Amino acid sequence: MPSEETEVVVVGAGQAGIAMSEHLGALGIPHIVLERNRIAERWRSERWDSLVANGPAWHDRFPGMEFPDVAPDGFASKEQVADYFAAYAEKIDAPVRCGVEVTSVRRHTGRSGFRVETSQGAVDARFVVAATGPFQRPVIPPVVPDGAVPVQIHSSGYRNPQQLPEGAVMVVGAGSSGVQIADELRRSGRRVLLSVGPHDRPPRQYRGRDFCWWLGVLGLWDAQTPPQGAAHVTIAVSGARGGHTVDFRALAATGVELVGMTASYDDGVLRFAPDLATNIALGDEKYLGLLRAADAYVERNGLDLPEEPQAHVLGPDPECVTDPRLALDLADAGVTSIVWATGFAADYGWLDVDAFDENGRPDQSRGVSAEPGVYFLGLPWLSRRGSSFIWGVWHDARYVADHIAIRRGYLAYDTADRPVAAAATPNS
Ligand SMILES: Cc1cc2nc3c(=O)[nH]c(=O)nc-3n(C[C@H](O)[C@H](O)[C@H](O)COP(=O)(O)OP(=O)(O)OC[C@H]3O[C@@H](n4cnc5c(N)ncnc54)[C@H](O)[C@@H]3O)c2cc1C
Repeated sequence: MPSEETEVVVVGAGQAGIAMSEHLGALGIPHIVLERNRIAERWRSERWDSLVANGPAWHDRFPGMEFPDVAPDGFASKEQVADYFAAYAEKIDAPVRCGVEVTSVRRHTGRSGFRVETSQGAVDARFVVAATGPFQRPVIPPVVPDGAVPVQIHSSGYRNPQQLPEGAVMVVGAGSSGVQIADELRRSGRRVLLSVGPHDRPPRQYRGRDFCWWLGVLGLWDAQTPPQGAAHVTIAVSGARGGHTVDFRALAATGVELVGMTASYDDGVLRFAPDLATNIALGDEKYLGLLRAADAYVERNGLDLPEEPQAHVLGPDPECVTDPRLALDLADAGVTSIVWATGFAADYGWLDVDAFDENGRPDQSRGVSAEPGVYFLGLPWLSRRGSSFIWGVWHDARYVADHIAIRRGYLAYDTADRPVAAAATPNS
């Protein structure tokens, strides 16, 4: 059966796919963007109702457009973020086809390029960009068996407190998602326990500047190596309620009971590692380290930013940290729900090419994979710390588009097109 042909198929129309389309379009490279749902679908239907962007609107956007309806220092709601990308796609006239799922990609045999099978027929393309997201498949560690509590959900399935049955909630994971969900549940009047692992918790603002600005001027968004042991960026920040620093002491003061890493479950009892104080202390040290680096930057550059000595004062550890709970009888504590804010895994089952290492992870450098012609975009630490964030993926996409343009140049080389060079004419 004849198939459609194009130069580049971009799979996924989240922020990565839209950024990719912008750069390919600017270089005049024919392409299509295939999206199984709607543009920026994950922002619309895989986030909780009250979520706002973690970064301010001046920062968490593409260079080519501001948020039309959010003040620069405000935090866009999840719907505003999704609308932003839909409007951006329209502005750049991105050739996005929604409702088309890519089911497989295979290299052609005996000729270059790939056969892309989709829910609406096949497409032949010379290049494929996998822009299917950094957070594809929700991961729930197999700790608590089904049925042990009435509800166990992943953070991507959490919507609001009313969704959960009456009773206490155990939230596992204290990155941006877990912390914000625990806070919202506590404010709704629930008893909440929060299992806290290693984390980074920069100040929301320091000396009048957002942490996004500090990470920028200090060059930390450009860091190329993940912190030891961190599979992805575990920054606990919040834009909720106008934005505030994630402060575990303040959370405990509102009644959230902090516990260490969730370790095991046995006969109705959940057990926690004795690592809570260490995790809090390491998070504090990173927080204070950023304040010190910011102070040094202010000094070195002679900036006139207001001093903020009180930001360095953390206060005493709450009792749940000094005398941590190591076990919880779920029924006795009235826990009816567990929310697992424990991250995501990749799922490239549709990408049947030699672009993965022996552990099944994308084998790539700055998005250029080991399989010539296949690219990845949007992954944590693809090129640097900012890679999976809105502003960072735009810059990675430019690199990938350039790479495709250079490769097209080689593929287009044909000596038959050249006039015979003078130097090649034999001397008589
Ligand atoms: C709770 C949460 C809050 C976040 N907040 C921020 C923030 O404030 N600021 C920030 O910069 N970043 C934030 N991020 C990180 C990041 O910006 C988002 O994860 C973002 O959605 C990633 O965009 P993406 O385009 O790389 O992937 P995705 O948004 O996941 O887009 C991938 C698209 O590919 C589609 N797709 C997948 N498989 C196929 C297929 N086989 N065929 C066709 N289509 C397919 C999906 O439907 C999806 O629309 C947040 C992440 C989470 C989880």
